[in-house]
Amino acid sequence: MSGKRTDYISWDEYFMGIAQLSAMRSKDPNTQVGACIVSQENKILSMGYNGFPKGCDDDEYPWNREGDLCDSKYAYVTHSELNAILNYRGGSLEGTKLYVTLFPCNECAKAIIQVGIAELVYADDKYNGTPANLASRRMLTSAGVKMTPYRSNGRILELKV
Ligand SMILES: [Zn+2]
Repeated sequence: MSGKRTDYISWDEYFMGIAQLSAMRSKDPNTQVGACIVSQENKILSMGYNGFPKGCDDDEYPWNREGDLCDSKYAYVTHSELNAILNYRGGSLEGTKLYVTLFPCNECAKAIIQVGIAELVYADDKYNGTPANLASRRMLTSAGVKMTPYRSNGRILELKV
């Protein structure tokens, strides 16, 4: 008996917790998504959330989903997974693991595959069955990226001090 604490959080809770915290930084009025990339040694390499590119003011660019492409967020927003990939300047992401709060779209799937991410742990999958989701799964499967649904134990992450 070492007397060590037993109620500490798991690696999955830790990294998905970081992804969820990152999501809370997003200004998107409809969908806040966060991502966290982790090395094979369980070290955090990068994080991201959905937002506009650098220099594109959140107060000037549109967040709405309706209207012409140029008047909607779809023309400008960068998804959390792509931001996490682009935020990493330390070299290769080959063999890493990506934690994301929502299953990636087909565009992010391409980036995930091309940088060599080996595994994807996702929480929400609300777009399951939609064309973008099906295309994403198809590519990730072909590329051999492991897709693991996050199993929450329902615990609320709160530090008791
Ligand atoms: Zn995406």
